[in-house]
Amino acid sequence: MRQRKAERINRAFYIGRFQPYHIGHHTVLESIAGEVDEIIVGIGSAQRSHEPENPFTAGERVVMVSRSLKDLGIDYYVIPIEDIQQNAVWVSHVRSMTPYFDLAYTNNPLVFRLFEEAGVQVKRSPMHQRDIYSGTIIRKKMLSGEDWEQLVPDAVAETIDKIGGVERIREIARDDVGRI
Ligand code: ATP
Ligand code: MG
Repeated sequence: MRQRKAERINRAFYIGRFQPYHIGHHTVLESIAGEVDEIIVGIGSAQRSHEPENPFTAGERVVMVSRSLKDLGIDYYVIPIEDIQQNAVWVSHVRSMTPYFDLAYTNNPLVFRLFEEAGVQVKRSPMHQRDIYSGTIIRKKMLSGEDWEQLVPDAVAETIDKIGGVERIREIARDDVGRI
């Protein structure tokens, strides 16, 4: 009889809103890729889009992350995860949307705590040049017309360019009489 493979896949989970996905996130995932066999990236607040703080759709963010991860040489899944208004069952919600994972990485204290309380092994991911790589800073630069392209992987800059992302951010920042 053929023996079942006893090999176990080490799979890690990492979540963010990725509005947009930037070099800080990418540096974290590069480092996680060196520690596990597969990565699951959760696209948080998946239902949100077309808002100044959340300009991009889940689908657009899936493309940004998937294309950026292609060169890491690791298998990955990118899965949209909608918010639920009940933190106590959030880990079950995440589990219901994702393949099985052995451990989670985060530097968000709430996410850390929720995984820990649910008995999931969780490791801290360090910040990488947070004063430069931050979604809020990148969105501000897009709004004010400063250079932002070097703060994100090339695949993200291309995706944002293709969907007219900067134009979208500027338009949704205006009020009804056109003032920013
Ligand atoms: P925003 O300013 O819109 O909140 P963000 O840069 O914090 O954007 P998120 O999508 O909110 O990006 O973050 C996902 C996760 O990545 C969070 O846990 C966040 O703390 C972490 N993170 C954000 N910036 C960096 C960075 N420069 N290095 C490492 N981790 C980061
Ligand atoms: Mg954040």
